[in-house]
Amino acid sequence: MSDFVMTIGGDTVPAADSFGVVNPANGEVFAHAPECSTEQLDAAFDAASKAQRDWKADEAARRAVLVSMADVLLESSAELAPILTAEQGKPLGDAHIEVFASAIWCQYFANLETPPHVIQDDGEALVEVVRRPVGVVAAITPWNFPLTLAFWKIAPALLAGNTLVLKPSPFTPLTTLKVAELLRDVVPPGVINVVSGGDQLGAWMTGHPVPRKISFTGSIETGKLVAQSAAPDLKRVTLELGGNDPAIVLDDADPAVVSKAIFAGAFNNNGQVCSAIKRVYVPEALYDDVVDGLAAQASSIKVGEGTEADSKLGPINNAPQFERVQELVADALTHGARAATGGHAMDRPGYFFEPTILTGLSDGTRIVDEEQFGPALPVISYRDVDDVVERANATHFGLSGSVWGADSDRAAEVAGRLECGTAWVNTHLALAPQQPFGGFKWSGLGVENGPWGLAEFTEVQVVHRSKGADGLNINTAGLVS
Ligand code: NAD
Repeated sequence: MSDFVMTIGGDTVPAADSFGVVNPANGEVFAHAPECSTEQLDAAFDAASKAQRDWKADEAARRAVLVSMADVLLESSAELAPILTAEQGKPLGDAHIEVFASAIWCQYFANLETPPHVIQDDGEALVEVVRRPVGVVAAITPWNFPLTLAFWKIAPALLAGNTLVLKPSPFTPLTTLKVAELLRDVVPPGVINVVSGGDQLGAWMTGHPVPRKISFTGSIETGKLVAQSAAPDLKRVTLELGGNDPAIVLDDADPAVVSKAIFAGAFNNNGQVCSAIKRVYVPEALYDDVVDGLAAQASSIKVGEGTEADSKLGPINNAPQFERVQELVADALTHGARAATGGHAMDRPGYFFEPTILTGLSDGTRIVDEEQFGPALPVISYRDVDDVVERANATHFGLSGSVWGADSDRAAEVAGRLECGTAWVNTHLALAPQQPFGGFKWSGLGVENGPWGLAEFTEVQVVHRSKGADGLNINTAGLVS
């Protein structure tokens, strides 16, 4: 019996089966989520499809619903944040921030203007480029920011006139299921459907004939499967995938200042952020000072259960990820790295790992080359800026990166040479609803957020009104060169 329910067509839909959800702070199942059947998935897409006919017709109503959704989220933070902490592990304060950010995204898209683009208005014709909804969206989210990343999809998809079926990660389904229940008061039935289940459910969604768009956030490996699954019927896809963000410290940086900021950019959400700093390149002259600064932060930060008031970092979210971080750190230590601090799982129940700073390693070590997605950060020394930019770019990843230095023009010039979707200067993880976010190379396809992200939930339509009396005033001037 599941403690949480799916929302399909605005109603509670009971599931025959359920699966356990683990609290990563103690490793024990604390709740059950419904296991969606194929018939229920069909029903969810059917409900979304039927709801879309009215939903796409009234833009003012859509904007009003988005405003109300933001209100519901803000009013429900006290109910949602503890569920998020229990299933994800993050400190309660961070869980409240995640609910707040979700509301901010709804408010932003509620107010984002979408004027038509007039490309010709003369004696011959009025030609406008307008955006139409794609139809039904299949949205799939990961476990690191279950709620915020869901609203990065829900808010623009809904504003554009789409309806959606959303599947959260099986590690963190509960907050999303609960949100859908709470939103039933303000969202018309069928506009937001939330189903839960394992990875197989995601595969059913991407292969389903109804959705015209898949908005996916998760790993590169799964993202490629999603792209394959979308290909036969040419579903549109947006893929927000993994990253291995470099931070490059320049020789004019202040080690004390940058080590604090880089620590924050690397260990936010316990390192489980797609665009967290995952490798740091430091000039030889500053290396020891930056390492000392990072290690001081890592060894003094309070790690604990998300429910403890002073916890700043929680556990790693799930057992496979916990094992992966242990494996990558052990591999680095075996290959000559040194832990300036940390290096081990903590001796307590749950998936706690010591915040770890690794030194004495280079490109070619797994933890430098792969996405660790956890609380362990390799620091690598370099001599030449051109060379380090090449090393930073020598990867299939291309999500984001940052460059740090006192001369911000110089740092910006170096940042501009990074092959990635966001190049920060003297900051990292600065994200906003108006700022497009996406990856180069294998880190993704398309972007989320801002008008650019909204556009990905639309099809382009040209409305060409002839002003000629007989409709035959075809202007070939621009067609033939
Ligand atoms: P994952 O790819 O394992 O799972 C993501 C989602 O996809 C889950 O809901 C899962 O059930 C579903 N899924 C699994 N197999 C599927 C399939 N064959 N077809 C369709 N759906 C399927 O990723 P994860 O471990 O949950 O999340 C961590 C990864 O997500 C990291 O690589 C991280 O960098 C990435 N991420 C990227 C962004 C971004 O915006 N670029 C944001 C957060 C996380």
